[in-house]
Amino acid sequence: SIALELADVTRRYGDTTAVDGVSLRVRQGEFFTLVGPSGCGKTTTLRLIGGFETPSSGTLRFGNRDVAGVPPEERDVGVVFQNYALFPHMTVGENVAYGLRFADPPGDVSRTERVQELLDLVDLSGMADRDPDELSGGQRQRVAIARALAPGPQVLLLDEPMSALDAKLRERLRMQVRSIQRELDITTVYVTHDQEEALAVSDRVAVMNGGRIEQVATPRRVYREP
Ligand code: ADP
Ligand code: ADP
Repeated sequence: SIALELADVTRRYGDTTAVDGVSLRVRQGEFFTLVGPSGCGKTTTLRLIGGFETPSSGTLRFGNRDVAGVPPEERDVGVVFQNYALFPHMTVGENVAYGLRFADPPGDVSRTERVQELLDLVDLSGMADRDPDELSGGQRQRVAIARALAPGPQVLLLDEPMSALDAKLRERLRMQVRSIQRELDITTVYVTHDQEEALAVSDRVAVMNGGRIEQVATPRRVYREP
């Protein structure tokens, strides 16, 4: 079934059309990637899905629900944006617990138990009392992912989560992200300018250019076409 759908969505900033008539459907449990060069509209598309931006025109649905005017904290999305750093003055556990500021933990668990569950999920068991600056870049990104997943969102939005890491860590992190995504079976929209990364992790890839979607296909097919 369809988890989210954009129909002819446009976002303008003055004379700039950042997103230009984008239509796409993301299936339940799918790992869907927006790929394309810097400035092509990927982040704006993700921010529209998250509710951090409003479309100039077009419609956006989560399942059957039109989410126009619905604020981010009511969209049931978890987000990891490049510029959403961890809070340095909070421990790892407190950073994850911050993800529960708008919501109770899903299921019948306490906040402390939920934080534990999430740290286990992202392979950081026992790190709750550490400070963020004691962690590696890849570990910090996993904390950010745990924080985003804390309330048990239906959709996970990830904007270039690996870009600050070196090639080896990036490859490791993307395998970890993919395995977390599969374990939870969570619908994921992923943004990257890196074609190799898109190929490695995605169920389907949307190639963007100049605010438009040029092609949507499985990684196997997408780069084969002329
Ligand atoms: P990408 O994520 O692919 O790098 P963006 O979505 O960030 O692309 O940006 C698409 C275009 O829209 C760029 O030309 C960018 O400068 C412009 N843009 C994005 N956000 C804003 C904004 N808040 N105000 C003005 N222009 C913006
Ligand atoms: P990213 O690197 O994740 O694509 P940026 O760092 O370019 O994002 O943008 C960070 C913030 O600045 C976003 O909220 C984006 O909408 C905004 N922004 C991007 N380009 C412009 C622009 N040309 N003018 C004003 N705001 C912009």
